[in-house]
Amino acid sequence: MMDWILECPQCQATAQPEGLPTVCPEGHPWLVRYPDRQHGIVSRARVRRRQGMWRFREFLPITSKENPITLGEGDTPLLRTVTLGREIGHKNLWIKDEATNPTGSFKARGMSAAVTRAVLHGVTDFVLPTAGNAGVAASAYGRRAGAGVKVFAPKTTPATILSQIETFGGDLVLLEGHIGDCGREARAWAKSASAYDILTLKEPYRIEGKKTMGLELALQLDWKLPRAVIYPTGGGTGLIGMWKAFHELLEAGWIEPPLPRMFTVQAEGCAPVVRAFEENAITCEPWADPTTIAAGLRVPAPLGGPLILTALRESGGGAVAVSDEVIAQTSLLATRSEGIDFSPEGGAGVAAVRLLVERGILAPGDQTVVFNTGAGWLYR
Ligand SMILES: *Cc1c(COP(=O)(O)O)cnc(C)c1O
Repeated sequence: MMDWILECPQCQATAQPEGLPTVCPEGHPWLVRYPDRQHGIVSRARVRRRQGMWRFREFLPITSKENPITLGEGDTPLLRTVTLGREIGHKNLWIKDEATNPTGSFKARGMSAAVTRAVLHGVTDFVLPTAGNAGVAASAYGRRAGAGVKVFAPKTTPATILSQIETFGGDLVLLEGHIGDCGREARAWAKSASAYDILTLKEPYRIEGKKTMGLELALQLDWKLPRAVIYPTGGGTGLIGMWKAFHELLEAGWIEPPLPRMFTVQAEGCAPVVRAFEENAITCEPWADPTTIAAGLRVPAPLGGPLILTALRESGGGAVAVSDEVIAQTSLLATRSEGIDFSPEGGAGVAAVRLLVERGILAPGDQTVVFNTGAGWLYR
């Protein structure tokens, strides 16, 4: 018996998680709630003794009798910078290095959770549109589960990422346009081939896996969260997920307020969240002609726009955009300063810290964690 429910934070609808849930009746993303797991279900000490993202299984959509589809995702390093902080005018800069996940990005976390649930419900074929790394992760976790994976990706996706999708056995279709254009094709194909569309926030479980970035951050900092989190935002699932995770930790009594200020960084060539934040809007308008070298940020119309904006505002955070030129320079600087393999997205996060300090929004001593969401080698 599954002991969680689905809830829509936008229209307050609720539902039982039967079968393969998609979105709420009004088309918003579902979030998972665990009303029967509030207190005392597991201890912090016990969670610390376990390994990987499934150490948090009491916070995840799995029952005590089920086994996850896993490749050892999670337990990524949290590293205090030695020289990079100084280079950009910050004294307390940390990197959460998601590049060390299986398949080279945090997408592994979301896929482990979503593929686990889907396969338990008998899915044998997956389909998804991707800006890149989700396609690699889906291909790998699909193979791990013995399922087929069809991937629709933009032609402009970095060549190494495309090659990794095929190496892991994903059936790759390249299209003109961006992830939104790929989404239309994926949906049509899902219908005709009765495959399961595992697009993020079109099903409720990828975000549950991604939220473990926030749970892990708390564990690694001995349950004292940092002052600020900088998150390279595409679809925004990681950010929404972490914000959800912090509230779950509060409810469990494992952390105390204040929660971190959450900051989105995007590329100037695709910044729908930054624009909406600056205009005080409650939803993101689609960005025309999205272009950026940071493939993971090339999401012109994030489905979770309202949830991202809520998290940024509630947390007292913000949103900034940086140019591709600055992204390229800063990811190289960060890689060579610290020996960490920065993706363009992670580089954008570091560039955002410099900007936020210059603008006086962050103090140079505020403990700040930048997520290096993926590995740089995937873009070379
Ligand atoms: C997918 C991806 C992102 C964006 O993540 P969201 O949680 O969807 O905003 C950022 N960086 C990399 C490397 C990615 O693969």
